[in-house]
Amino acid sequence: MIPRRERRSVTVGSVRIGGGAPVVVQSMTNTDTRDVDMTVEQVHRLEMAGCEMVRVAVPDHQAASSLYAIKERIQIPLVADIHFDYRLALEALDQGVDKIRFNPGNIGKWNRVEEIVGRAKERGVPLRIGVNAGSLEKHLLSEDGLPTAGALAGSALHHADLVEEMGYGEIVLSAKASDVPMTIEANRLLAERSDYPLHLGITEAGLPPAGVIRSAVGLGVLLEEGIGDTIRVSLTADPVEEVVAAYEILKSLELRQHGPILISCPTCGRVQIDVLRIARQVQERIQGIDVPLRIAVMGCVVNGPGEARQADVGVAGGRGVGVIFRKGEVVRKVKEAHLVEALMDEVEEMISNPD
Ligand code: SF4
Repeated sequence: MIPRRERRSVTVGSVRIGGGAPVVVQSMTNTDTRDVDMTVEQVHRLEMAGCEMVRVAVPDHQAASSLYAIKERIQIPLVADIHFDYRLALEALDQGVDKIRFNPGNIGKWNRVEEIVGRAKERGVPLRIGVNAGSLEKHLLSEDGLPTAGALAGSALHHADLVEEMGYGEIVLSAKASDVPMTIEANRLLAERSDYPLHLGITEAGLPPAGVIRSAVGLGVLLEEGIGDTIRVSLTADPVEEVVAAYEILKSLELRQHGPILISCPTCGRVQIDVLRIARQVQERIQGIDVPLRIAVMGCVVNGPGEARQADVGVAGGRGVGVIFRKGEVVRKVKEAHLVEALMDEVEEMISNPD
């Protein structure tokens, strides 16, 4: 496994970030936080998908006063996202949230930041200092008025120093931009210059699949360098898709296991079964399975059996039929119409008898 850079450990509710803990998957609701039922329903769907920590926007007093009711009905730690108004952070802390995400640079007077830090310290609630390229303080912008990686990292570290001077070190840092190279560079700087756990994300990454790709590239580079202790994939989509994408990124680097990995061939002129239909049906049927299996769907016998053999369970197409492999052994040959059923029988059998 790719080793993580040494970081201090911060505990958010029941979840540890940094300190050698597995990279934590988080997401953010896109419901109106004031609507407790809708928000809880969405968090439940995120929990089902494997989300380990959830952030909600707290734009006003009514949203802040809904946080206790939300927290009471969910299992995973709740993070309050605060901008500008320090009173919302104080109220969120009084409501019992597990972490506050804010940018001290947009809170205004420093004594207000002190109040937030003091209350968080009293309650033992960690703070994420989240700096975004879009809201960087004006004096840190380049001569052209643009954000830079150095300014992003510098701003996050400067604020962390000030919070430390107030006697509080339960800090997670993030430096995000929609620009992938800038985000990579800013986080390399943060990793070099501090030992705070790092929250990674490409902000406003956009619609899938482009947003997923941009996130995978940015986060993938950093994670491969051992940088990053928690990730959020920001998509213009149902947040459940963020969680699915986050796990795919972590699984592809073998940093987390989360359910099966489906391998399927792109198909070509040699294809002998309907790989697209079969792979889609298998993908649907394996949702919710929590066992880390490798499942292969291959279109023909040229590369098919080789790949399928390396999987725990696999199928390689022949003319109107498919050969089912299990741990490298051919177990049966079935008609194409019955392939999905047969493959899923093998998957279920393998889950109940792993050896
Ligand atoms: S497994 Fe067969 S059908 Fe699929 S891409 Fe490879 S050669 Fe083509």
